[in-house]
Amino acid sequence: MERLQKVIAHAGIASRRKAETYILDGRVKVNGQVVKELGTQVSAKDRVEVDNVPIYQEEPVYYLFYKPRGVISAVSDDKNRKVVVDYLSDVRERIYPVGRLDYDTSGLLLLTNDGNFSQKLTHPKHEVDKVYVAKVKGIAEKRNLLPLTRGMRIEGKRVAPARFEILSTDIKAQTSIVQLTIHEGRNHQVKNMLKAVGLPVQKLKREKYGELTLAGLRPGEYRELNKKEVSQLL
Ligand code: URA
Repeated sequence: MERLQKVIAHAGIASRRKAETYILDGRVKVNGQVVKELGTQVSAKDRVEVDNVPIYQEEPVYYLFYKPRGVISAVSDDKNRKVVVDYLSDVRERIYPVGRLDYDTSGLLLLTNDGNFSQKLTHPKHEVDKVYVAKVKGIAEKRNLLPLTRGMRIEGKRVAPARFEILSTDIKAQTSIVQLTIHEGRNHQVKNMLKAVGLPVQKLKREKYGELTLAGLRPGEYRELNKKEVSQLL
């Protein structure tokens, strides 16, 4: 169930503020009846009309996308760079990414047209583990990474404790591969955390989001989530 003004706004008819005016002016019908109550709750099954024209309510859809490097996590870009929805052009619903991965980060990105789902998942209190694998410059050692497990301050802000595993080290190249598990999603968080312990990130990939993995997908490919996968995330 959603608030009527939100449904009208989501359908792209008007801003939420304008939708409220339409409702108050008696221009909106739900199942054939004029509704002037602003908080009215409607579901996808209800027939909503504005000025007697039915609005199209999209069914919520959820996709798991393997984002390649060099793609913007957005629906459009003012510099005309490739954006994630370019890869999902077969999807007819108006989907957008849930949170973002940096332009040069690859890996698991969720896309949906469900605003509630997206808001819940990106709320700082929502603790779903995200697993990243980073190639870092420098030799990672347990004792250097330990501050990450205690929580630290980065740029004045407290970052929740993370878990880490050193997967491999290339002494000759002076690089390591580190797996980091976090549940927050601040801008450049993994890069900033590893930089703070002296290990700047050269390459970053998100491998897991909750129980979801990239299994079966190659970069640029996507699949729809099933109901169970969606409910497990909430
Ligand atoms: N942390 C980062 O630094 N970059 C990402 O893209 C995701 C998490």
